[in-house]
Amino acid sequence: MSDTIFTKIINKEIPADILYEDELALAFKDISPQAPVHFLVIPKKAIATINDITEEDCGVVGHLSFVAAKVAKELGVAEEGYRTVMNCNEFGGQTVYHIHLHVLAGKPLGWPPFSAKLK
Ligand code: 5GP
Repeated sequence: MSDTIFTKIINKEIPADILYEDELALAFKDISPQAPVHFLVIPKKAIATINDITEEDCGVVGHLSFVAAKVAKELGVAEEGYRTVMNCNEFGGQTVYHIHLHVLAGKPLGWPPFSAKLK
């Protein structure tokens, strides 16, 4: 797959407000926050969409949730609660084709997150 903006963030070619980093993953603030706290957790391995996750990626994909919780705790929003979302492809609202877990927190979040029409 071709590089996305997130590869440039991983390689420190463009700046990001990094909250956590290890050998497998990176967490950084979303540039266009949709809640008082909104950060992204991405694998360092470039995987385009959820559809492209292989069995060997399962460890790293699970690690994203671990990092999400770790950073949420560090930011003091874990107890109140938060939402994690991973969008997939056009109908899912994906715009960057390098999988990422959105973590949204800091206020009560509505559910469902869209107009409840089925069609
Ligand atoms: P998606 O729509 O693919 O689920 O989410 C992509 C997210 O990446 C969006 O929330 C968008 O604001 C964020 N984003 C896009 N470009 C950048 C960037 O250059 N830096 C940061 N920090 N976030 C970005």
